[in-house]
Amino acid sequence: MRLTLVVPCFNEADVIARFHEAVSRELTGTHEPYEIIYVDDGSKDGTLDAVIEIARADPAVRYLSFSRNFGKEAAMLAGLRHAGGDAVILMDADLQHPPELIGRMLELHTKGFDQVIARRTRAGDPATRTLLARTYYWLINRWADVELMDGVGDFRLISRRAVDGLLKLEENNRFSKGLFAWIGFDSIIFEYENVQREGGGRSRWSFRKLFEYGLDGLLSFNNKPLRAAIYVGMLLTTVAVLYAIWVIVVAATQGVEMPGYVTLIAAITGLGGLQMVMLGVIGEYIGRIYYETKQRPHYLVKESNLTPPGVILGGA
Ligand code: UDP
Ligand code: MG
Repeated sequence: MRLTLVVPCFNEADVIARFHEAVSRELTGTHEPYEIIYVDDGSKDGTLDAVIEIARADPAVRYLSFSRNFGKEAAMLAGLRHAGGDAVILMDADLQHPPELIGRMLELHTKGFDQVIARRTRAGDPATRTLLARTYYWLINRWADVELMDGVGDFRLISRRAVDGLLKLEENNRFSKGLFAWIGFDSIIFEYENVQREGGGRSRWSFRKLFEYGLDGLLSFNNKPLRAAIYVGMLLTTVAVLYAIWVIVVAATQGVEMPGYVTLIAAITGLGGLQMVMLGVIGEYIGRIYYETKQRPHYLVKESNLTPPGVILGGA
C-alpha cells in the first residue's frame, strides 16, 4: 500500500529538518512505499529553502510553494490534490502530531477504516483556550448540521476514496473539520497525549484567526442563523403589537397622557442593534455567495517539484 504524507508548513524553518528526520524514520519502519508532500504556505522565514534542501537529499519528497500565505486549508487541499497514495496522512510540521502514531494509523486503516482520526487531549493548553473551545463545540454541535468533536483536528489518515470524496467538495470557503465530517465513511477515533509546540514557537493561529475560523464553522454548514433571525423578528413583532394594543387601550380609557421616553429610547436602540446583527448575518451569507461565485483558485503555486499525481518514486 502506498502512503502519502501531506504537510502544510507556514514559517516552520526551525523544525522542518527535525520533523523530516522523525517522520522518515517512522515511514521507513512501516516498509510501505511512501511520499511526503510539503506545502509551503507562503512562509517568510526560509522554510522553502529548507524544504528544497530536504527534497534534494530525499527522492521521496515533493514540495509545492504558494505565492503567498493562503492558509492551512488551502495548503491541505493542494497536498490532497497531488497525493498519489492509497491513503493520505495529514500532519502538522511543528511536531505537535507525534510521528510515532503513523504505524497505529496504518494498522487501523488496514482493519477497514476510511478515516483514522487522532484526537488530542487538551492537557497543558491555556485554561481560557480550553474553555473557549469547549463552549464553541457545545454551540456548534447544537447549531451546525455536522457533528464536530473537541480535540479532533486535521491529524488523520484518509483512504483514497475518502480523499476523492473530499476533492469533490470544491467550495472556496473551506472548513475542513466540517468537510471531513460531511463525507462520512467508516471512521475511528483514537486519543493521544497533547504535545506542546516545539522550539517554544507560538501557534500560527492568532486569537482573531481562531475566532474567524469558529465563525466559519458556524456559518458554513447551515443557515440556522438566518432562521434565528426570522424567529427573533417574529417574537419582537408580536411583543410590539401587544404593546401597541395596550397603549391604545390605556389611552382610550385613561386619557392620552403617555410618558414613554425611556421605553422609546430602549426600543429604538435595542431594535437598531438587533437589526444590525441580523443584517450582519445576512451579509455574511451574501459575502460567501459573492466569494464562491468568483470561482477563484484556492491558491497559486510559485514553484514545485511535483510529478503528475499518481506517480510515486521514492520510499521503500
Ligand atoms: N499552517 C499553514 N498556514 C497557515 C497557518 C498554519 O500551513 O496560515 C500550518 C503550520 O505550519 C502547521 C499547521 O498548519 O504545520 C498547524 O499550524 P499551528 O501549529 O500554528 O496551529 P495549531 O497547532 O495551533 O492548531
Ligand atoms: Mg501546531
